[in-house]
Amino acid sequence: MVPVVPPTEKKLFTPGPLCCSSGVKAAMCYDLGSRDQQFLSCVREIRQGLLDIAGVSSPEFTAVLLQGSGTYTVEAVLQTTSPRQGAKVLILANGAYGLRMKKICEVAGISCQLEEFPENKKIDLIKVKEILQNDTKFTTVGVVHCETSSGVINPVEELGCLIKTYQPGAMYFVDAMSSFGAIPLDLKASHIDFMVSSANKCLEGIPGFAYVICRTQCLVSCKGNSRSYSLDIVDQFEGLQKNGQFRFTPPTHSMLAFRQALEEYKKAGGLPARKKRYMENRAVLKHGMKDLGFRELLDEAVHEGYIITSYFIPEHPNFHFQTFYTELSNRDYVIYPGKVSKANCFRIGNIGHLFPSDMKNLLHTIKEVLNIMEAHPLLTPQEIM
Ligand SMILES: *Cc1c(COP(=O)(O)O)cnc(C)c1O
Repeated sequence: MVPVVPPTEKKLFTPGPLCCSSGVKAAMCYDLGSRDQQFLSCVREIRQGLLDIAGVSSPEFTAVLLQGSGTYTVEAVLQTTSPRQGAKVLILANGAYGLRMKKICEVAGISCQLEEFPENKKIDLIKVKEILQNDTKFTTVGVVHCETSSGVINPVEELGCLIKTYQPGAMYFVDAMSSFGAIPLDLKASHIDFMVSSANKCLEGIPGFAYVICRTQCLVSCKGNSRSYSLDIVDQFEGLQKNGQFRFTPPTHSMLAFRQALEEYKKAGGLPARKKRYMENRAVLKHGMKDLGFRELLDEAVHEGYIITSYFIPEHPNFHFQTFYTELSNRDYVIYPGKVSKANCFRIGNIGHLFPSDMKNLLHTIKEVLNIMEAHPLLTPQEIM
């Protein structure tokens, strides 16, 4: 047998996949059958744990787990909430993840109206109010909570109030993928009908499945809508309610890991503790990057988020992002290219199993790489010489 060379451990400063604790990784080393009582209780515990974190309870709300990455649940919600006849989805987008909702609707043949807002600002409530007051009756309104392409946090609570006032017939869908569990979100006060996130974001499980937290009545009213069999949340829900099982092969290992991640989350102090750690990470990064001469895409006033930060690529002639990225990665620090369309940026995340000491080590390594590249943003080549 040819032994497989294990990969080196990387620190991931990205929007996902993210670093996991050793406890979470160890928890997945068991083979369980999909009908095994131990596995079924794992599913039950996860569904209940998610409702607890969301601060809602059954039967008013329910948590439905679905195989795949986060995008699968975004697509499943758009499929499930859109009637086969007369659907009209309104998408309020200020970044790449909002635009992805539009793409999903297009591919699925679901009629949608895209309203785009500047990428470096929160979605404008006054404009939204005007759009909602127009004659069009929307069946679903979708928005991203933390737009991970820039780091902007959108005002989902205020948006929810506007939607329920001016479009009472519409389902309100929030993509809270990169914020759930770390940024407070009051589902009831925000009038959210459907919310999605995934195992490998702020709850720090391993990738493999994502979840929908929704109002049970809204969900049940969507029966028969989905044009996709595998991405039908009502069908998935009915399967889980009937016998606690997934319809198709569940990611058993990923779910064992997630149960452990939920336990660690709770033990560490839940949302306030996670928020505190990410904010500390962000503070270390913010000051360190500023000292190195990097500039953030977002104005201070807009960026109260602590999930991910977009930085302008320095205009220094020696600074090449690909080299910067590769040199950091060679030293086991993985950052991420930009995703905003109108500016040249890269991104550094501080979510996942990362601590202020990791951020300090990253900054130290960035400095080292800048030295090698002779590309300090603050210094022109002449000043370096
Ligand atoms: C990570 C993320 C997604 C889902 O991405 P996947 O790659 O499918 O897991 C969707 N929306 C937002 C805002 C995200 O941060």
